[in-house]
Amino acid sequence: ISLFVGACAPAEQAVKKNPEKTVVAANDETVKIGFSMDTLKEERWLKDQALFKEAVEALGAEVEIVAANGDDALQITQAETLIQQGIDLLVIVPHNAEATAAIVHKAHSAGIKVIAYDRLIKNASIDLYVSFDNERVGELQAEAILELVPKGNYVYIGGATTDNNVHLIKKGVFNVLQPAIDQGDIKVVYDQWTEDWSPEKAFLNMTEALAANNNQIDAVIAANDATAGGVIQALAAQGLAGKIPVAGQDAELAAVQRIVGGTQTMTVYKPIQILTEQVASLAVRMAKGDTITTARAVNNGKVDVPSILLAPIPVTIDNLQDTVIKDGFHTQSDVYGQA
Ligand code: BGC
Repeated sequence: ISLFVGACAPAEQAVKKNPEKTVVAANDETVKIGFSMDTLKEERWLKDQALFKEAVEALGAEVEIVAANGDDALQITQAETLIQQGIDLLVIVPHNAEATAAIVHKAHSAGIKVIAYDRLIKNASIDLYVSFDNERVGELQAEAILELVPKGNYVYIGGATTDNNVHLIKKGVFNVLQPAIDQGDIKVVYDQWTEDWSPEKAFLNMTEALAANNNQIDAVIAANDATAGGVIQALAAQGLAGKIPVAGQDAELAAVQRIVGGTQTMTVYKPIQILTEQVASLAVRMAKGDTITTARAVNNGKVDVPSILLAPIPVTIDNLQDTVIKDGFHTQSDVYGQA
């Protein structure tokens, strides 16, 4: 497995500085993983952060976690610091799919392999990409809403264009909607991205969509639960919350509570623990020199990246109990309030 087995610490350092070679953690050394996160703003990322730490430590390795507050320059500086601190492998949740390519080049020049976590990094030779199937996320959203609203005016509230997932989700949504659009059954009367996934911007966009259509909206698909929250506030301001189906993504506690309360129709649940455990185990193996082969590959504009895409799960009031609550993603009392 290990190319540089038995290397003592100084030799190991020398290896890291040699761009020709790949860093391989020595057998007697604790593997150190760096985890560079975009943000901790949405609730899910707090789970990613805590569960990833837990998973890495359960494997006897260490992890240093940093988050960049949605700031590209800061994400690059933080990653540089991790590289200088002597990590064996870098896991990145990119804020900006293109800008983070710079980090990949820096890591690779130090011989450190890079895993793109949840979001793809474009135009860089990343070593692995592990996420949920984001195109499927969009399909699940559109399938659920189209079943309830086979005819009418649709609003699409996308995510941040800097996030590659957003384009995959939108593709999935339109895979499902397009035949109904072509038949003239549904019409997408408003279609807008949401800068930085901001709920406030989603609120403003939805307010604009309602005004432009004299409130004649029949369904809304929002790229995640945070933006769905903004959408539902805008609907509430017009007395329409609960009257128009809304889809989101993430199974955030607030969204699950809105599903119970009847103002949000569905969300897409992504069991984060499966992602963190997969990435932790692959990261540690790669840091020790294992070559990982995957069944799928995703082209990122530069290379075919070995990829693992986990299955997302649609959640409505009907299967809430059997999914998010059963898995302990949220507790019964968090969702329904204390008995
Ligand atoms: C993630 C979503 C998240 C969004 C905003 C996406 O890339 O897949 O789960 O809600 O970013 O952070």
